[in-house]
Amino acid sequence: MIKLYDTMTRSLRDFVPLEEGKVRMYVCGPTVYNYIHIGNARSTVAFDTIRRYLEYRGYDVTYISNFTDVDDKIIRAAAESQMTPKELADQFIAAFKEDTAQLFVKPATKNPRVMDYMDEIIAFIEVLLGNGCAYEADGDVYFRVEKATNYAKLANKTLADLEIGASGRTDEETARKENPLDFALWKSAKSGEISWDSPWGAGRPGWHIECSVMATELLGDTIDIHGGGADLEFPHHTNEIAQSECKTGHTFANYWLHNGFVNVDNEKMSKSLGNFVFARDLLDKIDGQVLRFFLATQHYRKPINFSEKAIYDAQANLKYLKNAYTQPLTAIADEAVLADFVTRFTDSMDDDINAANGITVVFELAKWINSGNYTPTVKTAFAAMLEVFGIVFEEEVLDSAIEALIAERQEARANRDFATADRIRDELANKGIKLLDTKVGVRWTRD
Ligand SMILES: [Zn+2]
Repeated sequence: MIKLYDTMTRSLRDFVPLEEGKVRMYVCGPTVYNYIHIGNARSTVAFDTIRRYLEYRGYDVTYISNFTDVDDKIIRAAAESQMTPKELADQFIAAFKEDTAQLFVKPATKNPRVMDYMDEIIAFIEVLLGNGCAYEADGDVYFRVEKATNYAKLANKTLADLEIGASGRTDEETARKENPLDFALWKSAKSGEISWDSPWGAGRPGWHIECSVMATELLGDTIDIHGGGADLEFPHHTNEIAQSECKTGHTFANYWLHNGFVNVDNEKMSKSLGNFVFARDLLDKIDGQVLRFFLATQHYRKPINFSEKAIYDAQANLKYLKNAYTQPLTAIADEAVLADFVTRFTDSMDDDINAANGITVVFELAKWINSGNYTPTVKTAFAAMLEVFGIVFEEEVLDSAIEALIAERQEARANRDFATADRIRDELANKGIKLLDTKVGVRWTRD
């Protein structure tokens, strides 16, 4: 039984999905105004690893992750680079997809973006206005936090604590609100800014509403797992819960999962410290598989420390696993021992997706393989475990397919079946494989 640490209850809970065998999962994605940094990459890899493990355990996972493409930072960056916000967002969405593909992140079932959900967002806000959970003030619409049940429970706070903290606010926006903690669902447009028509005039949505709308539109009123970085617990996820539950009357998400931060050389990463690391710059220097291995093999909730040594270790560890993976197959291996490895792997990973313990079992399995226990059954089990961490030794898979074709061609030639031999040569040529007949046999190269 998989157990997940649920931030809402601050406890490890048995994972029971709404529908047997299926998982509905929503993970907050990036605001697409720049390239992703290693903290974004960590979050994306952490939830991709969780998804892959759920799939390993046989679940059919619907994985939704949004792109925030309407936001102050986007408007500012677009103006600076003389692009429309949409053009800028398109550019960084493409960059996100490239970077995460290099990190072996599976494509989401869908990546909804705010610009495509404007009608749904407006309709959602109208329901909140209709049932008294929201109010209009000078073209803005605010959510009444007092209407939420257990507001900020996710962040382990109470409304009373927060009210004390907010009592001194005197800015212009606060003056429009009934309670300084009320948050914007809709903001009236400033002149010259991108805006959409609404019943409250031209404007654009607040940040939090998009996730409530897109999650419920695509996955239903209640979802199984909602994920994101620990920095999103408050206010973002807190406000998502308030809006969604006030609208639907149902629990928004049954399990709240949050990933830990990334430190760089034991220091918190921040723009002011100048140690901000873009995934793209790292991927120029470090193999994507190595970076993926580093990010995926630590417990998702723990902080991770990025350093040159950590990358060096990841490289060496990955090499060890690849070496085991490419060992020649053996005729026999004790299946009971293999079954024990599989059980230990699932026991480790079932415990809140403890990747650090899970990968330890994989290393022990690799050691056993190296001592001469490598039947096709063992290889299949080993590959499936590696895949949970996003590690696929593709070239080997491909190489063995090529080698099989070459052997088939040699056999055809030995049987003087030149038609088949030529057909295989052409098939390989189409894959960019060139064959060379040498004195020591057939060699091949990639074009
Ligand atoms: Zn979100």
